[in-house]
Amino acid sequence: MAMFCSSCGQALQAQVRFCVHCGAPVAATRPSPVPVAVVAVPPRPTAAEQGDYITGVAGRIGCNLLIGFIVFKILVVVAAVVIFCLVMVAIK
Ligand SMILES: [Zn+2]
Repeated sequence: MAMFCSSCGQALQAQVRFCVHCGAPVAATRPSPVPVAVVAVPPRPTAAEQGDYITGVAGRIGCNLLIGFIVFKILVVVAAVVIFCLVMVAIK
């Protein structure tokens, strides 16, 4: 493909990096490939910001269920420890 020096306008051979006439860098004259723009995707607005009341309520219910589940697990562990202690005392 024919290339021309952007500095002196002389025809250039392909694959040359510098103009043989004026020494200007040829690479600068090429249309550099546009880098894929890494556009930072803004975080999606929360359900509350979107006004999605149903989704917001569902999220809060799910959060409450998760907290309840964790509390339940803690209670189970505490109960197991208490029962274990009582059994140990009873064995003595
Ligand atoms: Zn040139």
